[in-house]
Amino acid sequence: MPYAHKVTPGKKAKLGDYSPNADDGLNKDEGKKRFAKLNAELDLMQEELYAAGKHSVLLVLQGMDTSGKDGTIRSVLLNLNPQGVRVESFKVPTEEELAHDFLWRIHKVTPRKGEFGVFNRSHYEDVLVVRVHELVSKDVWKARYEQINQFEALLAASGTIIIKAFLHISQDEQEKRLLEREQDVTKAWKLSAGDWRERGYWDAYMEAYEDALTRCSTDIAPWYIIPANKKWFRNLAVSEVLVDILRGYRDTWHETLDAMSKARLTELQEYRASLAKPAK
Ligand code: ADP
Repeated sequence: MPYAHKVTPGKKAKLGDYSPNADDGLNKDEGKKRFAKLNAELDLMQEELYAAGKHSVLLVLQGMDTSGKDGTIRSVLLNLNPQGVRVESFKVPTEEELAHDFLWRIHKVTPRKGEFGVFNRSHYEDVLVVRVHELVSKDVWKARYEQINQFEALLAASGTIIIKAFLHISQDEQEKRLLEREQDVTKAWKLSAGDWRERGYWDAYMEAYEDALTRCSTDIAPWYIIPANKKWFRNLAVSEVLVDILRGYRDTWHETLDAMSKARLTELQEYRASLAKPAK
């Protein structure tokens, strides 16, 4: 059984069916060992992705406050070559961003071919926080699910491999993490009264997440529910999804890289041969 739960396209995602506490019966040491193995493979595949320059990867990370979006980025991408990684965080839109369509700021920063892009929050905020707080009218946010699907289809058609991960924590775990931040002076900078305020809307967020996961899990851009109460398991589950999906592209990357190697060797041989010829 895979560690993460793929939301089957066309099927209703019910978060209550998945325990945020899940660990697949592993202990932390075993989990970390498995994670290290997957991480090494991911590292290798990123090099191939970068060198082949045929596809881009877009990992979308969503989750409630403290669900571990930053931690996932730090841990899972730890060994990747920073030259080929692009992390984008999406905050409250600026006045300029709000004066455009909601995908304007997103499309500008999608990863180019060869790049491994990560979205820390994303265009999904426009059907999550925006819906929960009624920042636009219902008909506007309702139309966005299909607009998002079309947008992601466009990205996929241009070679973007899209992987979307919802970091699933429980309400209790969130409270524990928020309280920990208060007690640890070195982490207090992360505190925000807003996090406690948003917590009050937990049920509305879960409903909004279920809808987003249900309506926008597609064959070309599936959603994965990641049990995220245990940080080590969350890292393991995200890595496994990434590695599993990217493995499917390795053959085409190898073909491209082989062709590139042959072309470079031929070029070099021709150059050497031209040096060996006597000048006329
Ligand atoms: P984070 O919690 O991601 O570490 P912040 O504390 O700055 O970073 O939070 C970013 C905030 O921006 C979140 O509360 C999020 O809901 C909000 N946000 C992101 N995108 C939008 C959007 N499109 N509309 C309104 N708010 C948004």
